[in-house]
Amino acid sequence: MVAYMDHKNLANETIDEARASEIADGVHRVLDGIAEAEAKAGRKAGEVRLLAATKTRDVGEIMAAIDAGVRMIGENRPQEVDVKVAGLTARCAERGFALGTAAAGDAGDDAPTPLPFHLIGQLQSNKINKVLPYVTTIESVDNLSLAQKVSRRAEARGITVGVLLEVNESGEESKSGCAPDAAADLAAAVAALPGIRLEGLMTIGAHVHDEATIRRGFAHLRETRDALLASGDAALAGCRELSMGMTHDMAIAIDEGSTVVRVGTAIFGERAFI
Ligand SMILES: *Cc1c(COP(=O)(O)O)cnc(C)c1O
Repeated sequence: MVAYMDHKNLANETIDEARASEIADGVHRVLDGIAEAEAKAGRKAGEVRLLAATKTRDVGEIMAAIDAGVRMIGENRPQEVDVKVAGLTARCAERGFALGTAAAGDAGDDAPTPLPFHLIGQLQSNKINKVLPYVTTIESVDNLSLAQKVSRRAEARGITVGVLLEVNESGEESKSGCAPDAAADLAAAVAALPGIRLEGLMTIGAHVHDEATIRRGFAHLRETRDALLASGDAALAGCRELSMGMTHDMAIAIDEGSTVVRVGTAIFGERAFI
């Protein structure tokens, strides 16, 4: 068990009104920021989707974000998915949302609204089965061996799981992700696997102050995606998403073509635990 999970009951569903309104303010601020960045970049309103990065947040905090307009969430650790998923699923259902349903699967007027659930942190192969029943997309696949294992386990369950290929555009050693020059071949190999739908690429912005450096990584991810789409490989036709941009580099990422921004701190405040 991760140590911080001993300090905080992540299954807790009750938060006070002050905390709920703090989170609602955060969501509204971030949604406004996305709209503003879209407009500045000359992009269509609503093109960029917000994923709330919910690590270290409890069920009550996450539901407050959903009540304020969040429509996609992402967890980093399979253990956290495990602790929260029952409460989240039940509270979402009460509000007419189907947690962990891909946005594509629509069925009728009374069907609940899909609320995609992503895994955005590193995934060890022995934890794949822990998350597969719940997550719509795994954003953090960065090698073929892991992709093959996800593929086999998804096939065994008779499901298809969304995958983003994580690319380490900054080259920072602390980060996971494949090397940028390996991304194209790896994406083609991953897309060819059964049980997997390659939906796009993901990166974490360079941890530096220099905006040009951050921007270069995001631009390179977009160029890689564009080259994959132009390759003519039918298995790559759905590789459209660019998951890039967090609290501090969201506007730059949107300017460089991001389709999903993953935001935690700007919604929920500073994390007490990493
Ligand atoms: C925590 C996390 C985020 C959100 O980071 P903030 O700076 O809190 O917005 C985004 N992506 C990943 C992979 C994360 O682990």
